[in-house]
Amino acid sequence: MIPAVLPTYNRTPLSFVSGEGCWLREESGRHYLDFGAGIGVNALGHANPALVEALTAQAEKLWHVSNLYRIPQQERLAELLVDQTFADTVFFTNSGTEAAELAIKMVRKYWHDRGESARSRILTFEGAFHGRSTAAIAAAGAEKLTAGFGPLMPGFETLGWGDHDALHAALDETVAAVMIEPIQGEGGIRPLPDACLKGLRELCDRTGALLVLDEVQCGMGRSGRLFAHEWAGIAPDIMLVAKGIGGGFPLGAVLATEAAGAPMGAGTHGSTYGGNPLGCAVGAKIMEIVADEAFLAEVRRKAGALRQKLEGLAASHPDVIEGVRGTGLMLGLKCRVTNTDFVKAGHDAGILTVPAAENVVRVLPPLNVTDAEMDEALARLDRAALAAAPDGARG
Ligand SMILES: *Cc1c(COP(=O)(O)O)cnc(C)c1O
Repeated sequence: MIPAVLPTYNRTPLSFVSGEGCWLREESGRHYLDFGAGIGVNALGHANPALVEALTAQAEKLWHVSNLYRIPQQERLAELLVDQTFADTVFFTNSGTEAAELAIKMVRKYWHDRGESARSRILTFEGAFHGRSTAAIAAAGAEKLTAGFGPLMPGFETLGWGDHDALHAALDETVAAVMIEPIQGEGGIRPLPDACLKGLRELCDRTGALLVLDEVQCGMGRSGRLFAHEWAGIAPDIMLVAKGIGGGFPLGAVLATEAAGAPMGAGTHGSTYGGNPLGCAVGAKIMEIVADEAFLAEVRRKAGALRQKLEGLAASHPDVIEGVRGTGLMLGLKCRVTNTDFVKAGHDAGILTVPAAENVVRVLPPLNVTDAEMDEALARLDRAALAAAPDGARG
């Protein structure tokens, strides 16, 4: 019999009743270090007092009004994002998928309004993840996302990751946009080298193609900069944000330059909940905290320390971990054992991590993780590695 909850997830039999900072607690009282952070969502940990205060203060005043009216909380968050980024304008969504949908519509409308509606090719990359809507799975192109859901939305061409020849051959004046994650998350924590992102920007400038960056997972401070593309010193035309921007409240956004955003006039797009007062009150508080240069410097310092510790872990367990990859606090352990076995061994040792493609285990702690918590995480990951080792049963 089908369960009451549609079984689209292969769930781990753990459930949590409360959380505080980097910690989650089960009903039994057992505590887990959360180094998955809801897949990079809980950027400031669980039950963060500043966010609880922002949410409850807003909840007592006004939960929701339609986008038929002005929403000051939304205007404030949009202004914070415009001030801190390349963007001139912002549309709020409830999720990353919806941000991807709008970004794709925006690209099409941009070329339509320039009298080139046939210019609809969007280049994407193998290993990409942009969400689960019909457009987002067609964009990513992977069989594991699209199988059974055809006919797929046309207009996307998926190129090999790092295949420069294919990119040069494909990117001409008929391409509408290139859509890419500066650091692939689901794809296995694969950072795009800064030089490649710079080169991509140049190719887009030469052909007129729009550069769309999906920073749903790598943005909002995760890379050690507010947005990961800042490392390459370039700016996109359109950017998708979600996950960390709401800290657990469902919130996403599309940021755009004036040129890319202007064709989306009144009536071209909408969302009932996107940008509502509750979500934007939380989002604005998160932006205030995360966009602070001192906070980001701390993320970079801790990222360096955590990476060093993980390299040490890999060196002591070469039969379990092949190496460490990633940028900032978006790190991955490339495994020699099956990644899901290592994640499971972590659960037994009291630490949560997240599997990704390429047999990688994602390490995504809250950005305000402490040094003591990183030490504790390493002790637990060390136990997990011992247990997951090929001879772990004997040890
Ligand atoms: C999670 C994710 C999405 C989809 O976001 P949802 O909020 O699950 O719809 C899109 N792109 C990237 C890079 C993601 O990590």
